[in-house]
Amino acid sequence: MDTPRTMRVSVLDGPGELRCETREVPRPGAGEVLVRISAVGVCGSDTHYYREGRIGSHVVESPLVLGHEPAGTVVATGAGVDALRPGQRVSLEPGVPRPFSPQTLAGRYNLDPEVRFFATPPVDGVFAEYAVHPAAFCHPVPDSISNDAAALLEPLSVALAARAAGGVELGSRVLVAGAGPIGLLVSQVCRLAGAEVTLTDVRPERLEVGRRYGAQHVFTAGSTVAGAGYGYNAFIDATGAEPAVQDGLHRLGQGGRCVLVGMGAETVSLPVQLVQSRELIITGTFRYANTWPTAITLAAGGMVDLDGLVTSHHGLDDVRAALEAGSGPNALKAIVNP
Ligand SMILES: [Zn+2]
Repeated sequence: MDTPRTMRVSVLDGPGELRCETREVPRPGAGEVLVRISAVGVCGSDTHYYREGRIGSHVVESPLVLGHEPAGTVVATGAGVDALRPGQRVSLEPGVPRPFSPQTLAGRYNLDPEVRFFATPPVDGVFAEYAVHPAAFCHPVPDSISNDAAALLEPLSVALAARAAGGVELGSRVLVAGAGPIGLLVSQVCRLAGAEVTLTDVRPERLEVGRRYGAQHVFTAGSTVAGAGYGYNAFIDATGAEPAVQDGLHRLGQGGRCVLVGMGAETVSLPVQLVQSRELIITGTFRYANTWPTAITLAAGGMVDLDGLVTSHHGLDDVRAALEAGSGPNALKAIVNP
């Protein structure tokens, strides 16, 4: 297939300022491949950059291409790439660490402080027709995984990392707060792992979706969650909201683990005596490492429902609508098809 010389990309100039521009199609260097992007999931972090122009210390200071949950087809390979051929469909893992950083060598490559991650300033994302990426971070997917689902292996990876951090296993009792895409996928993978899953959300309509994603018990959250019970082995927060975190901590049993996945409140006050008397373990997750092989197995085997999360599709001209779709009551996941 002949690759054109130029491509269209969607660029964010500042809060609320999106436009399409034409750029040269990049060439793959050694160890890299050029991918024709087919589908990109829209994430809460994309919407944050679009609305506020920043996430914490990451500030959009120069034009930035958003989008970090891509899938596509390899169209060209650079020198030294043996494992991938043009025509291979792939899911792109967005964070590329330095190969020999201490954290990479320790197996926690997501924690390399110099990791290059799509759509995190100043690294461009993939709301674009083509992207160049290291072959090692382009994971081949079988035909049983759709383009949309291949893109959504990224949020599935977030869920897999949360399950691991929570020590969730056969027979665990797990409380999940938040029935957005991450909370739903956390519920599904915890159920797959053999856990009993309880899911809470402030939006009752989301809880019905939660049942489809493996939650056996669902409760509406207010300032607290009535009826959800106590003694959980793990609490996984996918809200970032202080009331949810406080409530979840109180519901953990002795030695229970709290995993903070949701991004929201910068600080949350801690029930110190409770943490001490029950020897609770509180941790967070930062993205994921080594999750794609498992994610591909689960998706290819029909064990997780990624396509069921998709509630709208958008072209590159329509990225604004894709970024604003997330706030709708029935919206779960918007997909951009460049
Ligand atoms: Zn994301």
